[in-house]
Amino acid sequence: MNPNRSRPRKKRSTGRPNQLPIWSRRRSLWALLLAGLGILGVRVAPASGARFSRVVLDPGHGGKDGGSKWYGVTEKDLTLDVAQRVQRLLQAKGMPTVLTRTSDVFVELDDRAIKANKYSDVVFVSIHFNAHRDRSIKGIETFYYPGSNDGKALASAIQKELGSRIRSTDRGVKPAKLKVLRLTKGTAALVECGFISNRWECQRCATTWFRQILAEEIAEGILNYR
Ligand SMILES: [Zn+2]
Repeated sequence: MNPNRSRPRKKRSTGRPNQLPIWSRRRSLWALLLAGLGILGVRVAPASGARFSRVVLDPGHGGKDGGSKWYGVTEKDLTLDVAQRVQRLLQAKGMPTVLTRTSDVFVELDDRAIKANKYSDVVFVSIHFNAHRDRSIKGIETFYYPGSNDGKALASAIQKELGSRIRSTDRGVKPAKLKVLRLTKGTAALVECGFISNRWECQRCATTWFRQILAEEIAEGILNYR
């Protein structure tokens, strides 16, 4: 409804006697005012009540920084592949999604945050794979910046989905003072999709079917946070 159309016109009230009692007219004005405020409220809030309108995906490492390297598998290749898969899934659902890198190039942590901070109403999800000297350690975990309730909620939404369709160790949601999470203004989380130092986990991370499942679960988690 266009509120301008229901405004009383001066000509009408002066041309002939108004049939409505004064208290009724006052009530109508109040109703009009409240309706107007309601319409303004709807316009100020995001159209669908969503917490964000864009996703920035951050494939960890790249270029000279390969990240972890085990059994011939390099982290930077896995992160880019998973991020691109998540991007395709989110875009197919109509969610604008950008990557902090789209090829095998080195990007400073500051520049990743700067790219994300160009937009408002974003969630930022950094994608990594883990490694540990103890090769028996495996599992999936998601980090948020300490004290960020939104970050914790986002991390929880992603971690809840991750590993729900595959056998994996749930290492939980944890706070961590990670620079890339601190520098991004939007709600941020960092996903560690598995330990490539563990031979079993590395082998499946190296397959496209597994990375597709990871991507679908990450995308699902992000959309659930909305
Ligand atoms: Zn990493």
